[in-house]
Order: sequence, then C-alpha cells, then structure tokens
Amino acid sequence: MASRPDRQVPATLSFPSQAVHAGNESADTGPLRTPIVMANSYRLPADPSGLSWSGTDVPLYTRNSGTNQLGLQRKLAALEGGEDAVVLASGVAALHAVFFAHLRTGDHIVVSDVTYEATWRLFAEVLPERYGIDATFVDVSDLDAVRAALRPNTRLVHVETIANPTTKVTDVGAVASIAHDAGALLVVDATFTPPPLYRPLADGADLVVHSLTKYINGHGDAMGGAVIGSRELLAPVRSDAMVDVGGVISPFNAWLITRGSVTLPLRLRQQTASAEVVAAALERDHRVAYVAYPGLVSHPQHSLATRQFGGRGYGAMLAFAVRGDSDTQNAFVANLRVITSAVSLGHDESLIVHVGTEGPRVARYPEEFRTWGHLRFSVGLEDPEDLVADLTAALDETFG
Ligand SMILES: *Cc1c(COP(=O)(O)O)cnc(C)c1O
Repeated sequence: MASRPDRQVPATLSFPSQAVHAGNESADTGPLRTPIVMANSYRLPADPSGLSWSGTDVPLYTRNSGTNQLGLQRKLAALEGGEDAVVLASGVAALHAVFFAHLRTGDHIVVSDVTYEATWRLFAEVLPERYGIDATFVDVSDLDAVRAALRPNTRLVHVETIANPTTKVTDVGAVASIAHDAGALLVVDATFTPPPLYRPLADGADLVVHSLTKYINGHGDAMGGAVIGSRELLAPVRSDAMVDVGGVISPFNAWLITRGSVTLPLRLRQQTASAEVVAAALERDHRVAYVAYPGLVSHPQHSLATRQFGGRGYGAMLAFAVRGDSDTQNAFVANLRVITSAVSLGHDESLIVHVGTEGPRVARYPEEFRTWGHLRFSVGLEDPEDLVADLTAALDETFG
C-alpha cells in the first residue's frame, strides 16, 4: 500500500473542528489516533554527529520532545491561536517555566493580589528571598494601581483572566497596554477560561498559561501544564525550563489530555450554562451569604466579563458561603450527595472545597470571603437540575 501523505489541518477550521483534528495530522501510517509512545528515546539517524542533543523539534529524548508532547503542543497552539506551545508536567511547572526563563535577579514583577496560591507563594516568599526577584501585589481591577506599581525594572505583569478562587476578572487588553508601555510582558493564567471561551493572545497577552489538569483535559485523570505564545518568547521556556530543569509531561498524560481536549467546546458550553443556573439558584436562597460568579449582575465586574468574553459565558467556577460558621460550611458540604468534596476543578464531576477564614492566603481575599470563608465550586457535567436539587437538599438538612 502506498504511504499516505501527512495531512495538514486547515488553519481556517472553526474551533470545534480544530478541537477534533489539530495535533493529530501526522497519523499517516495507519492508526487514526497518534499512538501512545512510551519510549524514553528514539532511534538516531546513521550519522547523528550533526544533531543538537538539546534539540526539541524531532523526537530524540522524551525530556526534549516526544511524539505525544509534539502533537499536544501543535493542538494547543492551534486552539489558543498562538505561534507555539510548550507542555509540561503540571500547571505549576508551566508557571515556573515562564518565571524561570524570563526573570533575572534584580528584576521586578507586578502580580495580581488574588493570584493562585502557588504563584502567590513563589512571589511572596521563594523568589524574593532566594533569587532577589521583587514582586508588587496589586488589585489588577484598578488600572491606576497597576500603572503605579510599575518600575523601570518591571519585566513581567502576571494576572489571571478569572482569579482562583475570588473570580476577580482582569481586563486583559487594558493591562496589556499598560505593561507594554512600560516595556514589560503580560503573562495570563487562563485556566478558568480556556478557549473557545476566551483567547488572551488576541487581546495583547504575550504568554498564556494553562493548567491542563483542569478544563482542557477535563476528566480528572491526568496532570499537565502549557505555555502558549510566540516562538521567540517560548524558546527559553523550552530550552532552559523544559530541557534543562526537566519538568516534562509523561507521554501517557499528553495522550490523555489530547483525547480529553476533543470535547472541550462541548463540555465548556454545558458547564458554563449549568454554572449560570446554579449561581442564580444559590443567589436566590436566603441561607446563602454571598455568591461570587462573573455571570451574575451582582458581580463587580459583570459588564467587563460580558464584553471581554464576548457573550460566550463566564466560566463554570463559583465561590460562595452559607450563612454560618466554619462548622456550618463543613456540615453543608457533608450533606451533599452528588457534588464531591475535593480540590481541583474543571473535571467532569462537580467538585467543592471549603476554605476557611484563616491564614495569609485568605487575608488577600474580599471581605465576604474573610467573614464567611468560601466554598470553591467547580460546576461539572451533571444535569444542572440535579446539582440545584443536591445543593437545596443539603441546605435543608443543614439549616433544619
Ligand atoms: C490548578 C491551577 C494551577 C496549577 O495547576 P496544576 O496543574 O495543579 O499544577 C495554576 N493556576 C490556576 C488558576 C489553577 O487553577
């Protein structure tokens, strides 16, 4: 049988079609799916003397590049609308890779004051103390505060599209132009708003980071992280952080995430629609102290979110608390029968986690979070009516 040519997926395909086909175009040898290649290394050419041992373009050694990593990278670059992508072992490995590759001792960074826990600890403690990298935490919804925080040595500005867990929304276009005017790069953690919900690169972000562990895989069975952006900015991320530090993704996880991402647009559409139903039901209930969800008119940045996400929805993450102390929040969670108490998010199953009112992390959060604590709630793929019924039954049981 004559060998079939490699198939290139047209870049003009719509998002759902890209989600099916992108990254799978080199399946020219028979199987329609890129096989899982559980190999640490690949056969060398007859004369390998011209090869770069740290090269990453052809499969050589799995810490540099392997079949499944390369396919997932092509797919994510296509889905996010970027020139290139690097995949790593976790979302945190991806964040580390950006900071490691693009910051030097003496540099300064401006970071959202409600940034993800691990990022916050890196800039509050680890990087200043060990490496002399200074950070200023600002309320990134206050553009004047962002401007005022910039210094001549500010190299990066780091924000989240929707912050974990406060749901604060960043105006990516506005912060990008402020950062660029000061010669700084904008890094956007877009884990809560994967494409097609939002593409920060189109609004001026320089690098986009995803925890693939969350929505892009979507099935709660594989960890991964990605950085997407220009070839130039990703070159040191790949060579210095991936090859030389080595937080590489396993081929099996890359394969699982590639498969999970096929249904990303369908899952996101359902989860987003369900989150709107659930958030509205919670907000109507007098036993609920507050609900933070950008899709609610009561959210301080509802109109920014509507404009920025182009009416495609507001994600599927909410934070709320029931009226009561920490024991009451725990009792409420224990009374849930469908929604599971566990960390992580963006899985097929709904997940809830009770975070109390103590600790340096919570001190950064809005007043209602500090008063009541919060339940971070990742709305899953169950029927939204079942989720509302579960929440209502647990409220009935808790409040008698
Ligand atoms: C989970 C998460 C991360 C870290 O991702 P891991 O895959 O757990 O390492 C980073 N940013 C945000 C916003 C997250 O929710």
